[in-house]
Amino acid sequence: MQIYPKAYFEKVQDISIEFLNQHHIKALILDVDNTLIDYDKNMPEGIEQWCQNLKKQGITFYILSNSNQKEKVEKVAKILDVPYSYFATKPLKRGFKKAIQEIGEEKENIAVVGDQIFTDVIGGNRCHLFSILVKPIAEKDILATKIKRPLENFVIKKYIKTVENARQK
Ligand SMILES: [Mg+2]
Repeated sequence: MQIYPKAYFEKVQDISIEFLNQHHIKALILDVDNTLIDYDKNMPEGIEQWCQNLKKQGITFYILSNSNQKEKVEKVAKILDVPYSYFATKPLKRGFKKAIQEIGEEKENIAVVGDQIFTDVIGGNRCHLFSILVKPIAEKDILATKIKRPLENFVIKKYIKTVENARQK
């Protein structure tokens, strides 16, 4: 289903090379707000190291943010040394298409990583990319996100239950 992620992790640093290899993922399209930084623009410890480690193992990165704050997105992109697009209008396909083209891998070998079902997951699924949902870094969301969050939590809980049930069978 289009609203479900293919995988769920607590944080991006939990996405391992073993997991990526297992799913034939060669590139990651990363969200910024609440995925890589919190709303005070702080990047949690370990993210830079995680990114550099995966790069060494051949993983390509691309940052795709809906934020219209170019400086903020650029700063994150510079720290991680990764190409970026801002004001991406996810879940519309436009930004993803640009990212896919610049990455230069097949769609089935690219995963989208983000904290929001309504932008990252649905957008990625619509473009036939592998979708990975992560828990938001901070729950201190902007108002628009706050409105969507209760429904999102409901979907996540339902999804986790479905996965657990499937595992038990
Ligand atoms: Mg986000």
